[in-house]
Amino acid sequence: MTVLTGSCLCGARAYEIDGEIDGVWACHCSLCRKVSGSNGNAILIVPKDRFRWVRGEDHGVTFALRETYTITRCKTCGTPLPAETDARNVYVTAGTLDAPLGSGVRTHLFCASRADWDRDEPDTRFFDERSS
Ligand SMILES: [Zn+2]
Ligand SMILES: [Zn+2]
Repeated sequence: MTVLTGSCLCGARAYEIDGEIDGVWACHCSLCRKVSGSNGNAILIVPKDRFRWVRGEDHGVTFALRETYTITRCKTCGTPLPAETDARNVYVTAGTLDAPLGSGVRTHLFCASRADWDRDEPDTRFFDERSS
């Protein structure tokens, strides 16, 4: 069986996901934009019984922003990591994966809240690494 692995920037926290996940949910709501400081959040929705911490489960700080919206960051490096859970699922920040997912974004949420800059201009430049 496929096992996906992920971790925070400093490596204090790490997790595993059993089996394949069918794509990413990209949320553009105002909460996700503020909390990420970017264009939103990219999330994997993982059934609870397929997710487990392998390191640093307790090494996080959870911010309960609203009753239905929490975010947990690593205590050391601040990386947002899987936090928000409901009865069935864990919501995993896709950027913390350490291996290819094998599928892309399948769903965009709160598109009406999207920042006006959240798009490529016709003359957007792309570099494989940083520009020099
Ligand atoms: Zn960390
Ligand atoms: Zn959102």
